[in-house]
Amino acid sequence: MRRTNASTKPLMIFPRGMQAEPQAFDRVLSSMCTEPHPVAREAAERFLATNPGDPGTYPTISALEDDAIAILGEIAGLEEPAGYLASGGTEANIQAMRIARERADTDRPNVVMPESGHFSFRKAADLLEIELRIVPTDEDHRADLEAVRACVDDDTAAVVGVAGTTEYGRVDPIPELAEIAHEVGATCHVDAAWGGFVLPFTDYEWNFAHAPIDTMAIDPHKMGQAAVPAGGLLVRSSDLLDELAVDTPYLESTSQATLTGTRSGAGVASAVAAMEELWPGGYRTQYVRSQNNAEWLADALEKRGYEVVDPTLPLVAADVPRSTFDALRGRGWRISRTATGELRVVCMPHVTRKMLAAFVADLDRLEVR
Ligand code: PLP
Repeated sequence: MRRTNASTKPLMIFPRGMQAEPQAFDRVLSSMCTEPHPVAREAAERFLATNPGDPGTYPTISALEDDAIAILGEIAGLEEPAGYLASGGTEANIQAMRIARERADTDRPNVVMPESGHFSFRKAADLLEIELRIVPTDEDHRADLEAVRACVDDDTAAVVGVAGTTEYGRVDPIPELAEIAHEVGATCHVDAAWGGFVLPFTDYEWNFAHAPIDTMAIDPHKMGQAAVPAGGLLVRSSDLLDELAVDTPYLESTSQATLTGTRSGAGVASAVAAMEELWPGGYRTQYVRSQNNAEWLADALEKRGYEVVDPTLPLVAADVPRSTFDALRGRGWRISRTATGELRVVCMPHVTRKMLAAFVADLDRLEVR
């Protein structure tokens, strides 16, 4: 790129015609990420040039990562917090499957997961050459325990439970899944990538304190309001991380358990800043606000005759016709559909009641036609 003299002309950051996206969240109803909290944004900027992947060279961000894992551990009921900040839920899920595969005493490992599991497990299975056994969910979109039981065997390396599913916000019966996993010598992994920052304020049994689970994905860059990229992998004990460690001859530190080498110090710093600011009171307030919004929207849709999946966490799915869905998208609403075609609205922190009211008003306008 040709640079102009900074003293006479501002440096062009975006090519001609390209806009930054300060207002990008105005109509975003489908994302599982959100606007970073102001303290998270500021911390990200301060640590842009740091790399927690090389702790010997960047000790400050490395210490901050320890702080992040300590708070994540507290959120997830982990007595001796261990883990690292990953690029997101995908990486955390892949790494958890890698741990499971390394521990399994078989040449033909399989992983058993409910059909509500995130597609990142398909990537994991592909990369790790694991057989992915997908079992049905029950009528409430939660893992069907009988189906899981029937599917595990001596080659099962991991049983996956989701705590806050991507499509319906459901929480699988985690203690039971852990029991099934351990009966066949497998690990139990909980994917709380999205749900992890709202579930502490509910009655669900989802974390390390509630069940003998082994690994967990829990992402600060989703409901945690950190800047992207800030995912989290937690493990029950640090020896599980050893399964991932490789020697790192050219770095100042000697081994690395992460999937990527260079990592984002911005993500780590912003996660610490957001969690220090918001855990637990701020997250509780946000959960209540988001849950109320979800219930308000579910009610509004129901009153208009749509079939709605009860929002047990702040995520609403409703049977809106394809043509209406497309027309709403045409009006700029960033919405998505479940695998079976329902409209899906995720009530993230940036989603306000005013936004939802505007969305419903647009829906009404379309219905009149
Ligand atoms: N797990 C769950 C439950 C998710 O909802 C998502 C993404 O929405 C992921 C994992 C993947 O996370 P990421 O996109 O940060 O890799």
